[in-house]
Amino acid sequence: MAERQQIRAIKGVRDILPLESRAWSRVERAAQDVFGTFGFAEIRLPIFEQTELFARSVGADTDIVGKEMYTFTDRDEASISLRPEATASVVRAYIEHGMHTLPGDVKLYYMGPMFRRERPQKGRYRQFYQIGAEVLGQSDAPGIDAELIEMLFAFFGRVGLEGLTLDLNSIGCKECRSKYVEVLRAKLLYVKDKLGADSQRRIETNPLRVLDSKAPDEQAIIETLPRIADHLCEACKTHFAEVRRQLDLRGITYNLNWRLVRGLDYYMRTTFEIIAPGLGSQNAVCGGGRYDGLVELLGGLPTKGIGFAIGEDRLMLSLEAAAKLAAEPSVDAFIVWMGAATQATAIKVAQRLRGAGIKVELPPEEFKFKKALGLADKLGARYAILIGENEIAAGKFTLKRLADAVQTSVTEVELLETLRAN
Ligand code: AMP
Repeated sequence: MAERQQIRAIKGVRDILPLESRAWSRVERAAQDVFGTFGFAEIRLPIFEQTELFARSVGADTDIVGKEMYTFTDRDEASISLRPEATASVVRAYIEHGMHTLPGDVKLYYMGPMFRRERPQKGRYRQFYQIGAEVLGQSDAPGIDAELIEMLFAFFGRVGLEGLTLDLNSIGCKECRSKYVEVLRAKLLYVKDKLGADSQRRIETNPLRVLDSKAPDEQAIIETLPRIADHLCEACKTHFAEVRRQLDLRGITYNLNWRLVRGLDYYMRTTFEIIAPGLGSQNAVCGGGRYDGLVELLGGLPTKGIGFAIGEDRLMLSLEAAAKLAAEPSVDAFIVWMGAATQATAIKVAQRLRGAGIKVELPPEEFKFKKALGLADKLGARYAILIGENEIAAGKFTLKRLADAVQTSVTEVELLETLRAN
């Protein structure tokens, strides 16, 4: 018989196994809790959309749309793409469901996988996970920008991620940015020979992206380039000054980073990025910014918007590096039942304890005493509950704390209390 070949996961994608997924769930719950306190509600979005949605919003000339999307033709000939990000989908849904009629700002969050065909490395995957939030409405008050960033720090604080830095910039509006881009392009053409091939190409396609360059020999030249802050129009200047004052009011410190332009076309005015420790070169754990005009671009009414996306994979890596992922016991109590007549009681005890939120392992068939205790130990259970015929006759169970083998005889009520308390 021909040997069966093992099938492996695709390059750049990975499995998140139970030891990790428990920590992921905890982080996701923290996001739900914290975002909820700021008035955000969850939106669940499709994982694929018409390619046109991303081409129009993220931008046809960006790396994401030009090179990194997983695109295929559906049977009815529509071009479909796995989502490389979710803001476009949120905006599509906002328009499609007439959410502009809702009172106040519409505050939504989402979490889930995104897909980009990037070169895989630590902290960079082809299927990766984002937790993001968006505020859509009629107001572009700088207090919205600042509160959104405040919410991010509240969330990072809740999950225990420390040592973060916030990079902040304003990339202006359509008018002042396009003037700046021309000034920048002119200067770039002047120094073109000193730049590498990638940057040379970007002078034509997207000059702002030259500012993103990490190439060591381009850094000195980039430092001499004109800066957007000197080219903002009055309205953008005022908006940015007020965003900064609003951050000050909230006690949030930041670095001004004039080179922070972000890789997506729809951004304007406020842009920000959060850098986390322990991540090496892929150290941006969150990116975001304002995108007034995107709703209109996708066929809706004039609307203001701002949002962010946290890279959950990187968040988890950073927490791991900081040893903040305390292993949670996966089993609170292992029930050791002995003798066929005790199984019915064991099942009832398991039902009550699980009903009270206690993690219980109940052997599906009778195990030898030694084997049962050995397994309880290996699973990291905190307690073993021994149920034998003697226990049933006495109406009490033997509770054994596995760390120090201390045994006590307890009623069912006491059993529940002890397990709950610890
Ligand atoms: P972006 O949507 O490009 O603004 O990215 C927002 C955040 O998502 C980044 O700061 C990263 O933390 C994360 N991210 C983006 N691309 C990847 C990727 N290929 N693998 C892992 N995380 C990513």
